[in-house]
Amino acid sequence: MAYDYDTQNIFAKILRGEIPNDTVLETEHSLAFRDIAPQAPVHVLVIPKGAYVNYDDFAQNASDAEIIDLTRAVGEVCRMTGVQPGEGGDGWRLVANAGEAAIQEVPHMHVHVLGGRNLGRMLP
Ligand code: IMP
Repeated sequence: MAYDYDTQNIFAKILRGEIPNDTVLETEHSLAFRDIAPQAPVHVLVIPKGAYVNYDDFAQNASDAEIIDLTRAVGEVCRMTGVQPGEGGDGWRLVANAGEAAIQEVPHMHVHVLGGRNLGRMLP
């Protein structure tokens, strides 16, 4: 499926340096920054620098290098923010919303890293 990417979305503006962000990690192909409305003590968004609308767009159209980079960046964020179990943390949850049903607010692929509190059960 081909996706239309809106170059005016807020994460595109962050990537262009038009809007400030609280960067946690920057790699060759990815940027991780704190969510502006955190839902947990640790709430970081990890995004590819490339223009992808959602996880499916990224998985289908990103290069292997971009996918590996983002996957490793997510792991690094879990360690850096102290939520990695076995390394002093209590655990984390990854969330990637797509489309209306999931109420995806920003149409640039992103993974939420949530932790630092008991996150409860997400599924019954
Ligand atoms: P979504 O609902 O999965 O698209 O999540 C978008 C997230 O982006 C929400 O958790 C927002 O709080 C967050 N957000 C929106 N604008 C900004 C910003 O300028 N900086 C950091 N996070 C933002």
